[in-house]
Amino acid sequence: MLVKIDQIRDQGLKVNEQMSLELLGAALEDSGFRATEPLSVSANLRKVSGGVLVEGKFTTRVVAECKRCLTESKLELPVVFTINLVPESLARGEDVLSDEELEEKDRGSGESGGSFGLEQADEEVFDGKVIDLEPIVREQVLLSLPMSALCREDCRGLCVKCGQNLNEKQCGCDTKFVDPRLAVLKDIKIQG
Ligand SMILES: [Zn+2]
Ligand SMILES: [Zn+2]
Repeated sequence: MLVKIDQIRDQGLKVNEQMSLELLGAALEDSGFRATEPLSVSANLRKVSGGVLVEGKFTTRVVAECKRCLTESKLELPVVFTINLVPESLARGEDVLSDEELEEKDRGSGESGGSFGLEQADEEVFDGKVIDLEPIVREQVLLSLPMSALCREDCRGLCVKCGQNLNEKQCGCDTKFVDPRLAVLKDIKIQG
């Protein structure tokens, strides 16, 4: 997924790239999510004020075991991202912002909707010659994953007694839930 800066003309450059199943799988290692197909990324690169603005989109398609009911579920996660790539030569020393600039940044971070300001784009540094989209996409994939995999928001999970998947049917077990931590406390009381 390499793009040479010379390839980007004034009107910008559209690229369509694939992240192979192997690479995607490696990116998802230990995430609890599994890739089922390669990732198709389309991106538009434009030169802006010394850097390159990358606007891209793709859909992460993964499978994961639902945390509550353990059913394997498919997720389709649409991702849209904008990254401002700054050449190393310009990026040096930019970390140190004056108070005024910091304030400016805070104001800019508000939800304004509407037009998208450069200052709101995530910034990354590149060598000024070649852009590697792969680490950018990899990061966006990981950012798109939900905190925990659920087959659906209101998944009822499994019955703690009989293991019935409660999304499918009610088992009728008496499941007045006893928190195991409370059960331990009860034991301590008895001993005391
Ligand atoms: Zn579930
Ligand atoms: Zn049950």
